Amino acid sequence: MRRPRVWPAVAGMAVGGVALAGTRTATGRPVRSAPTLAAAGLGMAAGGLMVYEWLSPRSWLYGPVFWHARTAERVISLTFDDGPCHPYTGQLLEILDQEGVRATFFQVGNNVVREPNLAAEVASEHVVGNHTFTHPHLTWSWPSTIRDELERGQHAIHDATGTLPAIFRVPHGWYGPQTISVAQEVGLRCMGWSVMAWDWNRPPEQTIQHRIMRGVAPGGVTLLHDGQDTDAYPKADRSHTIAAVPPIIRQLKESGYRFLTLPELMQLDAQAQPT
Ligand SMILES: [Zn+2]
Repeated sequence: MRRPRVWPAVAGMAVGGVALAGTRTATGRPVRSAPTLAAAGLGMAAGGLMVYEWLSPRSWLYGPVFWHARTAERVISLTFDDGPCHPYTGQLLEILDQEGVRATFFQVGNNVVREPNLAAEVASEHVVGNHTFTHPHLTWSWPSTIRDELERGQHAIHDATGTLPAIFRVPHGWYGPQTISVAQEVGLRCMGWSVMAWDWNRPPEQTIQHRIMRGVAPGGVTLLHDGQDTDAYPKADRSHTIAAVPPIIRQLKESGYRFLTLPELMQLDAQAQPT
């Protein structure tokens, strides 16, 4: 189902509110009169919302971004970005295999081209999503640039794994309305997350574990990294993240959680709240 577009109405409020306040002031009415202040306040609030939503990893104003399931059930989705990356992705696959957990990997096309066998190994057990080809900031990019990044990512993943992703996560977390609409045109659903650990800064494994466990909730989506920006290889170091994963899984299991891939979590969300 296609949602009605809300953002033009919000944009109208932003422009209209500020314009009305400006016109009232220009025609000699006092700036501090209640209607002028109300119009300016409404305009600025609507403008602020537009900027916030432009940058938010959980954006809803410009299009749907799935970042959690509406459920009280203790289910969670583990997601890993920026791979595949030797040796970390392989180590992670072993851990997940031992624990019997399926996860979702947002792979960078460039890294897939460098490690096609590793990418295929991931796809044989887990769900693979598109994370662009070169991992750029897309927040202010032209739609043609975004389309190119997404399509090259799709081709790279398809060539290596034989599967074509249906989900996409924007690099660096900020979508922008044009990114969401281009992704939809390419046939990709945009994905966010509900809890992350800032693990790209390589905090100690206990810190990563603590940050994830503090933020988990039923229907949540965790974000960790098994790789790094494409040009960082071979200097990428994800050893702290990999070391944090087994205790995170163990603790979640002890708390009664079971693990779903992102498409499974979306399905659960759709069943819980039919629209
Ligand atoms: Zn990334």
